[in-house]
Amino acid sequence: MTEAKVVIAADIGGTNIRLARISEGLILEEVHHQADFSTLQDMSKLEAEQHILLTIEQAMQQLSQEDIQGLGIGFPGFFISNSGVLAASPNIPQLSNFALATKLSERLSMPVTAQNDALCAAIGEQTFGAGQGHANLLHITLGTGIGGGLILNNTPYIGESGMAMEFGHLKVEHDNESRLCGCGNRGCVEAYASATAISTRYNELAGISTSPKDIYQRAVNGNQQAAGIFENAGMYLGTAIALAITLLDIRTVTISGGLIGAWDILHPNIMTSLNKNLIPPLQGKISVAPSTLQDNAGILGAASLVIVSHAS
Ligand SMILES: [Zn+2]
Repeated sequence: MTEAKVVIAADIGGTNIRLARISEGLILEEVHHQADFSTLQDMSKLEAEQHILLTIEQAMQQLSQEDIQGLGIGFPGFFISNSGVLAASPNIPQLSNFALATKLSERLSMPVTAQNDALCAAIGEQTFGAGQGHANLLHITLGTGIGGGLILNNTPYIGESGMAMEFGHLKVEHDNESRLCGCGNRGCVEAYASATAISTRYNELAGISTSPKDIYQRAVNGNQQAAGIFENAGMYLGTAIALAITLLDIRTVTISGGLIGAWDILHPNIMTSLNKNLIPPLQGKISVAPSTLQDNAGILGAASLVIVSHAS
């Protein structure tokens, strides 16, 4: 009988690290570790690397190490193939060619894999969630930013330089007035439909700085401005999904992240705009479904990437 694989998976966010002990797609134990990566901006490359390694190592110590056979990390950045080498991270510009997996593996004396966080979510969704049974899947993470992960013929597709499916930076508005995105360009879907964009837009219209969750509640209570922002976000998401589908001819799209709490407003608008923008033979053929894994898609995907050897 094969022993069950027990690994730790880590989801690295901007302000905290979430870690879980996972076996066969089941979360056995989890912790949230505070980690303020905004201070990395002022550090040298070497200091930033050391800070990340040490932070992950400290976070690991909060979980039971019993039977742990490896660590899988979902990280917001681009990785060179399956090497675990971080090529670049948009939010931490000084990090380049950082052998994250190898360095951690040496420190922790266990196998470590590291991959783009949105791709991990795609893998998790296809293996355990709403993408099960679909050989081709486009998965979108709808949070502070917008990410994308692509599975083609049951294989995660990462692109030539690890940057495939930068879904958040598909352009959905083209005039000079279009909104500025964190990437430096204008008109990206992330500038209209991310959690950050929704809060920013509501603040501009209503003069109130609040969370997307609260804005959604206002929409449910009949606030037209709040509802309009989610309707627009859905329309822009549909436009971006149509661009991706036109290139890929994929029938199944799944979406995870905090904003799917507003699914009843987002989904009809996504579908209207998607079908309007698709070429006619594909109209009505695409399913867009919310994640069935709450916020666990990324961490389950990161865990499934860990390759452990069973010593006999
Ligand atoms: Zn952008």
